[in-house]
Amino acid sequence: MSIKVVVAGAKGKMGSEAVKMIHQDENLAFVAGVDSKLSGGDVGETIGIGPIGAPFYHDLEQALSENEVDVLVDLTTPAVVKEHMITAIQLGVRPVVGTTGLSPEDIEELDKLSKERNVGAIIAPNFAIGAILMMKFAQQAAKYMSDVEIIEMHHDQKLDAPSGTAIKTAELIGEVREEHKQGHPEEKEELDGARGAFYQGFPIHSVRLPGLVAHQQVMFGGEGQSLTIRHDSINRTSFMPGVQLAINKVMTLHGLVYGLDKIMD
Ligand code: NAP
Repeated sequence: MSIKVVVAGAKGKMGSEAVKMIHQDENLAFVAGVDSKLSGGDVGETIGIGPIGAPFYHDLEQALSENEVDVLVDLTTPAVVKEHMITAIQLGVRPVVGTTGLSPEDIEELDKLSKERNVGAIIAPNFAIGAILMMKFAQQAAKYMSDVEIIEMHHDQKLDAPSGTAIKTAELIGEVREEHKQGHPEEKEELDGARGAFYQGFPIHSVRLPGLVAHQQVMFGGEGQSLTIRHDSINRTSFMPGVQLAINKVMTLHGLVYGLDKIMD
């Protein structure tokens, strides 16, 4: 039996790639798209792949309650993602969330709700498998090289900074790195923000430019040496194997999982 999926943000850059992937996967069934403006019509026609017999809903709750739905894939905006997750969990629909911008407090609250309702959920700040490996390698390196800076680079339409991936990388590094404030103790910023945002004493820098997709490098420095670990997503299809994996895995979960790394073997 195929897994029935609704995509919120279905006409967006990520959402439309997710619709194409789901439509092509014979183990998945695309039921409907949710959009902030569109209602009715055919999602396939709107995103340029021809009719696929699935409409847009303006209202998420309506999309999830009028159809038989197993999984909600959310690729929308930081402003609505938490509400979307709450609605889905309350209706017994498992959320797979790529939208970034949820705070640690939001994640804690959603974790509690998903456990109370016994509904599986996945939040993945980065669905690219290569980015997960970049984070794992960075955590390994941080055990031995504790001076580190993260530079994340994204397209200029991104709303949140630093990226969810940068925060997740910082958390993983923070778990193993010997905590200390880097740089000269008397370092002074001549321009505010020149040294970036600090997480447990090490900086994160966010670059936003047209032409970029999603890129991150983690730079380590030691006596007489440096190490750079870098990942580049050059287009949004790079995220789809991760979305596909998460849709399948969420069907077997009973609480919230944060990070694709937790579901990769
Ligand atoms: P995008 O092209 O702007 O798409 C967002 C879509 O969400 C738009 O179509 C927007 O429609 C729709 N939307 C906004 N409010 C909505 C609502 N209340 N209900 C339903 N749909 C709504 O952005 P994107 O590049 O696809 O990115 C989407 C999210 O995914 C962002 O948070 C981004 O950071 C994240 N992201 C995650 C990963 C990952 O691997 N986890 C990778 C890339 C991006 P309107 O324009 O009509 O409002």
